[in-house]
Amino acid sequence: MIELSNELTKRRARAFSAGEGALAWYRQRCAATMGDVDMSTGEGVKCYDPSTGMETWTIPESSDHLINTFIERARRAQPKWMKTEPAERAKILWACADALEAEQSELAEILALETGKSLTHECKGEVTLPASIFRYFSGLVHEIKGRSIQAGPKLMGYTTYHPWGVVAGVVPWNVPLMFMAYKIAAPLAAGNTVLIKAPEQATASLAYAFRLIAHLLPDGAVEIVSGSGSGAGNKLISNPGIDKVSFTGSVETGRAIYRQAAKDFRSVTLELGGKNPMIILEDCDLDKAVNGVIGSMRFTRAGQSCTASSRIYVPRKLMDKYREALGLALNDLKIGHALDPDTHSGPVVSKAQQTRIQDYLTSAASDGLDVKSYGNVLDEELFTKGYFVKPHLIFDPEHEHPVSQEEIFGPVATLTGYDSLDNAIEFANSTDFGLSASVWGRDIDACLTCADAFRAGIVQINQNAIMLPGFSYGGIGISGVGKESSLEAMRETYMFEKTNIVNFAG
Ligand code: NAP
Ligand code: MG
Repeated sequence: MIELSNELTKRRARAFSAGEGALAWYRQRCAATMGDVDMSTGEGVKCYDPSTGMETWTIPESSDHLINTFIERARRAQPKWMKTEPAERAKILWACADALEAEQSELAEILALETGKSLTHECKGEVTLPASIFRYFSGLVHEIKGRSIQAGPKLMGYTTYHPWGVVAGVVPWNVPLMFMAYKIAAPLAAGNTVLIKAPEQATASLAYAFRLIAHLLPDGAVEIVSGSGSGAGNKLISNPGIDKVSFTGSVETGRAIYRQAAKDFRSVTLELGGKNPMIILEDCDLDKAVNGVIGSMRFTRAGQSCTASSRIYVPRKLMDKYREALGLALNDLKIGHALDPDTHSGPVVSKAQQTRIQDYLTSAASDGLDVKSYGNVLDEELFTKGYFVKPHLIFDPEHEHPVSQEEIFGPVATLTGYDSLDNAIEFANSTDFGLSASVWGRDIDACLTCADAFRAGIVQINQNAIMLPGFSYGGIGISGVGKESSLEAMRETYMFEKTNIVNFAG
């Protein structure tokens, strides 16, 4: 039994009951869709609170029958939705945005409970994003425009954009509400209907948010599929009733989904992992750089971000200075229960992920690398029960070592010295990933040289990687295929382009 403060016990119970309520609503919705037939295979996936390791709830494993029924309903609803006046579609998306502004504090607590992300530093911010994403795409409904081509005196071509039909959006657990919003609002704005595969570790949060908007949407326009990735997720993305798959998650799952899509000749967009470099220039202000590392590496999310700057390059002569300054800043990070308002960083999401990260740290140490841990643990007993990993830095690992090449997806960054800018850029570009890259400093020539040379889909100068509506977002290499989050990306991802040729010579 874990002793928690009264306040924490109360907050945890409140989050638990709100999460259970959302899951009960979701079960009922599925049961109503299915009539008398059981919605699940009866198996279900057990979920745990990462901060304590205690079991929370079991989410239903959607049956084939439920998935097929959802897809049939989505197929029936799509032509009507596509033909709904743009002004009406925009109005519905805007109404969803208004609805998503309600009950944010309850939603933030469920999110913190099931993912282990810090309530104060992560969840309270994330719950504000879905409304702004729905508002952005509400505005884009009127912006779907093609081009015209004057091919001859009486020969004209013009292009038009058309929704794919039914989209399967597969959402990762790490920023689940934001990705759910992108994967509902963008395809809907484009005239598709949508099925969302909820991540196991954030199903209650997604159900809670979906409950806020479900009554505003036409029947069959959006549904959530719960259950395991290899079970319900795989059935969804390989169903012939799905026209487009939009996946965000790991490289490993992305590869399996890409293979399946190739087999079926189905259009697919993949937003995958990263091993993102951050080059700090000699003239960069030390405090700015240190804050930049804490923010860019997403230490407040225990490093669990696809754009986390997990490879930090500093001028070799400044290594000692950075080592000390980063150590001090990391020791200030309070590590505790995600629902504790004092916590800067909670645990990692699962026992399996904790073990995976610890294996990287153990093998780095046994290979003789210089590995240091930091952080201010708020409750030593809780720390041994939950899935905690302290923030770590690994100094000057060889470039070929797995800790320099593979996505650890935890609070572990490497700090490596460089001798020249060319040398730093060469390091930055030598992994198979290509999601984001950043450069920090005042020398504008050097900043622009790096920006130009980085092989990555997203580049920042003196800025953490952020996903903002309007900015296309996506990687190259094993970081993914295609983009999300902008007008252009909405057209490319959720619509196909048609070329129309007219001869009006008479
Ligand atoms: P994941 O294990 O690949 O899972 C992502 C989603 O795919 C989950 O909903 C998962 O369901 C589902 N899934 C798993 N196997 C499937 C299959 N065979 N068919 C269909 N769906 C399947 O990734 P994660 O652990 O949730 O998220 C972390 C990873 O996502 C990291 O690698 C991170 O870098 C990446 N990520 C990328 C971006 C980006 O925009 N580039 C953003 C955020 C995260 P279950 O939860 O039920 O297993
Ligand atoms: Mg996973």
